[in-house]
Amino acid sequence: MHQHKLSLAILRADQLDAQLSGNKYFKLLPNIELAREQQHHTLLSFGGPWSNHLHALAAAGQRYGLRTIGVVRGEQGGPLTACLQDAIAWGMQLHFVSRRDYERRHDPSWHAELLNLFGPHYLIPEGGANQAGIVGCQALVPAGHDYTHIIVACGTGATIAGVISSSRVPVTGIQVLKGAGYLQCHVAALLQLHGLQASCDWQVLDDWHGGGYARFTPQLLEFMQRFETDTGVPLEPVYSAKMLQAVVALTAADHFPPAARLLAIHGGGLQGRRSLA
Ligand SMILES: *Cc1c(COP(=O)(O)O)cnc(C)c1O
Repeated sequence: MHQHKLSLAILRADQLDAQLSGNKYFKLLPNIELAREQQHHTLLSFGGPWSNHLHALAAAGQRYGLRTIGVVRGEQGGPLTACLQDAIAWGMQLHFVSRRDYERRHDPSWHAELLNLFGPHYLIPEGGANQAGIVGCQALVPAGHDYTHIIVACGTGATIAGVISSSRVPVTGIQVLKGAGYLQCHVAALLQLHGLQASCDWQVLDDWHGGGYARFTPQLLEFMQRFETDTGVPLEPVYSAKMLQAVVALTAADHFPPAARLLAIHGGGLQGRRSLA
């Protein structure tokens, strides 16, 4: 790495806001603006028990005086996660559903049932992955930068969709969930659905998920600890640690040109570190 003079900078979206963390800030604020324009006082969205998205949504609801409803994947079995405890403390109403029901999270007929159940609300898809959220993520690309490559961790793909529709330099996505080719296809579909176009070369690499979504190998946790000690940059295991582990391995394998100036986007979500406790 050093003999190549390759450099790696990290865009610290995790430092943007204490509660409304990381890329979720860029996805949620435009949605809140739209909800207000449409006279909505209630926001509803979907996520798992450690969802950075629901966590940020609950924080936003409290800050802006909006009612929030979180539809949570999985029946409530044991004690609430620290993430959901925060959400409740910030006023979010939680609605637990089975994993099977949760699979219907994009199904309009379920949305109609939720409308009956909770009354009028502005629905934000899982991860904030709608047009407003994607367009909001365009602002993650710094103005007038001179990096040669941008790297993003991908869950729903909304963040990378925003980034590749505004970046002039190549973008590499690191898919944190299993599924060969899944996000490469899905992101292309998202762009098309929302009338956006890629302004750069881009690809999503699908072999750095380390066993699947929110699966952590001992090597990942070791990498995370070493990276934090060496750089002072805190990571979380679901997205940023996997992305940086991939960046370091790709660099060692000469994936990037020798003098590349890499910019990796840290998507925040540090609240999720508590899942390791
Ligand atoms: C949500 C999240 C991502 C993934 O963003 P998508 O837009 O869903 O692809 C990446 N990093 C962190 C820390 C996140 O919380």
